[in-house]
Amino acid sequence: MVSPTLPLYPPASLGVIGGGQLGRMFLQAAQRMGYRTGVLAATEESPAAQVAHWTAVGPPGHLPALRAFAGQAEGVTVEFENVSAPALRWLARGKVVRPGWRTVWVSQNRLREKTFLRENGLPHAPWRPVRSAGELAGLVEGLGLPLILKTASSGYDGKGQARVEHADEVEPAWATLGRTPCVAEGWVKFAAEVSVVVARGEDGQAVAYPVGQNRHRRHILDATVMPAAVGPAVAQEAQELALAVAQALGTVGVLTVEFFLTEGGGLLINELAPRPHNSGHLTIEAAVSSQFEQQVRALCGLPLGSPNLVSPAAMVNLLGDLWAGGPPDWRAALAADPGVKLHLYGKRTPAVGRKMGHLTVLDPDPETALARVTDARRRLTGGR
Ligand code: ADP
Ligand code: MG
Repeated sequence: MVSPTLPLYPPASLGVIGGGQLGRMFLQAAQRMGYRTGVLAATEESPAAQVAHWTAVGPPGHLPALRAFAGQAEGVTVEFENVSAPALRWLARGKVVRPGWRTVWVSQNRLREKTFLRENGLPHAPWRPVRSAGELAGLVEGLGLPLILKTASSGYDGKGQARVEHADEVEPAWATLGRTPCVAEGWVKFAAEVSVVVARGEDGQAVAYPVGQNRHRRHILDATVMPAAVGPAVAQEAQELALAVAQALGTVGVLTVEFFLTEGGGLLINELAPRPHNSGHLTIEAAVSSQFEQQVRALCGLPLGSPNLVSPAAMVNLLGDLWAGGPPDWRAALAADPGVKLHLYGKRTPAVGRKMGHLTVLDPDPETALARVTDARRRLTGGR
């Protein structure tokens, strides 16, 4: 394979590994800029495959599918972190691949992620590795109670996690997680959860979006407000920490850092995502350049766009739960407030906890934005 030269200008062909909504919104941003777009997805019906110019069907680690994908893409990015790092290294021999394998490799495994944070002096909650039964001893003494066990790999939306309230629950909790390698974390009594999306170019130029404030329900993101209701010092520190993470990882692309804001005003890094993030979806309407446009720009070696907000905004997720009593009443939600922006990901089968879409509202007052977008979501099921 011959390495393509940068920048990749439109109409070069860009491919994303992973067919979900993040891949879909990346492709849509790329298409707006005139790129040809494709995806490596599980099925032709995947959210990203529905809007792609071309699709290679297969699991991300499947060599024939990866070959078919590589045959059509000049630039490659990922929509999730559970992509095999060796596959990314192989792709990078002939393609522009961003983020690189190292960023993905660190952030796809909580043991590596926590070790990276510790080695770089980046603040995080106390933790211990759990790789064997022997390492369960001393967890409670070291971390206190409650504590939380998280599988080292393939957890998302609270999956692969178990909260431990009493010392005698440690072993059963690890058993429910299949006795796989885990991290054990001390429970953080946070005042708020916030996140910062950053984009970093190959020349090291980097930009940070304003801080987003996140509310979770059942460990799944429920709502984001941007900018967060935090003071300027906290906001600046969060942005600086997120930029420091991207720099320490040598990330080229988009990276998101999730934080706990403690009651004392301190920031602890919770986790990293080497990609756009659910808390950044509102940048599609609220920022000069969206997080997905930055992913395109960073991948292609173009100058990064402005992360400045054109307006404060709020976003709420639309989970499959909203379909429990039949299809949501789209008309009611849109009629009540013409400022509501509807995003659906094209998923055919709603399921409890499944992210089907989101709503965004811009408003000069962030709290009013949240009230309006929450009201719109309520109207979706208002009649029942
Ligand atoms: P993921 O988002 O991959 O499911 P997280 O580690 O971000 O995993 O955990 C999901 C949510 O669970 C967090 O956003 C937070 O609300 C809660 N949580 C996770 N770890 C802790 C902790 N140590 N203390 C308190 N809450 C936690
Ligand atoms: Mg998380």
